[in-house]
Amino acid sequence: MPSSTRTHKITLIPGDGIGPEVTAATVNILETAGKQTGCTFDWHSYDAGADAYAKTDEYIPKALYKSIEENRVALKGPVTTPIGGGFSSINVTLRKKFDLYANFRPVKSLPGLKSNYPNIDLVIFRENTEDLYAGLEVMINPDIAQSMKIITRKGSTRIAKSAFDYAKKHGRKKVHAIHKANIMKLSDGLFIKCCKEVSEGYPDVTYAEHIVDNTCMQLVLNPYQYDIILTENLYGDILSDLCSAFVGGLGLVPGANLGAECAIFEAVHGSAPDIAGQDKANPTALLQSAVLMLHHIDEAETADKIQAALEKVYAAGETLTRDVGGKAGTRAFGEAIIAAL
Ligand code: NAD
Repeated sequence: MPSSTRTHKITLIPGDGIGPEVTAATVNILETAGKQTGCTFDWHSYDAGADAYAKTDEYIPKALYKSIEENRVALKGPVTTPIGGGFSSINVTLRKKFDLYANFRPVKSLPGLKSNYPNIDLVIFRENTEDLYAGLEVMINPDIAQSMKIITRKGSTRIAKSAFDYAKKHGRKKVHAIHKANIMKLSDGLFIKCCKEVSEGYPDVTYAEHIVDNTCMQLVLNPYQYDIILTENLYGDILSDLCSAFVGGLGLVPGANLGAECAIFEAVHGSAPDIAGQDKANPTALLQSAVLMLHHIDEAETADKIQAALEKVYAAGETLTRDVGGKAGTRAFGEAIIAAL
């Protein structure tokens, strides 16, 4: 047993749909690993979205905002957003409120999983606060709706800097800026102008630009040509789901929303209502998001322990969830990781 104990206050948003199931599995694994490495977690748990509204009349309770402000770190499950009406996305609102401008999504193959694309290792840096997600929509008249795409020099430059700084720190060789500046000459034009300017400060990292539709084809033909994908909010959202398919699907890919003050760690996937409450969800994506969080709070030993246990379970291939060809439920998969710790 470790001789000293470190306690981390973490805001926890289990979310809805499969959120509470994958969150429970993830929290159990962190607690068990933490006991072995001498760290404990003081979880401050809050509802968000429709569940929060039913209890507090607020979609994002003030107490949740305050908790993130104080703890500066949150682990978040997915939250359902109504389609074509209803309240604004909780996810987008939190990212904007805390200015979490960098959405970092590493897409990496796990051992043991059969795939048409073995040994994938690419990273997506998605701008997280502007573009069509600025939420500026108006009905011009009953037959014409308008959405405003906002791209700024500040937003584009800081996400580009995040991608290039990461490349430099982690020895990555290439950054591709993904855009549609042939059509959106001003907005996407500004984005790539800023990316190019930033790239000039990093002579050891190769910089290239690809148009987003071509990128989709290039990715499917040969994803290995990409190392870091640097892009705007909407393209980043779409390309993240596409890239998740290379490594086994949405059940696997983690993410971090990073700002200057706070960070919220969450999977790429949504609330998966089709499998919610059935013990079918794969908690790997949220668990790997928690591993990113552990690195962020300087708990590398705990992070590495969990990642090693996760990879051991995948390499053995005996207790995997259905989305990756296994038969195990969420709980059994979580228990297998705890046993492997
Ligand atoms: P989704 O990611 O929830 O599901 C897409 C498909 O992937 C479904 O077939 C689902 O079963 C599968 N899947 C997703 N996560 C899985 C997991 N962990 N294990 C196994 N299978 C998994 O996308 P959707 O259906 O388009 O969206 C559902 C809801 O989630 C919507 O309301 C959407 O707005 C919301 N959403 C929230 C977030 C977030 O909270 N950050 C992100 C994306 C979507």
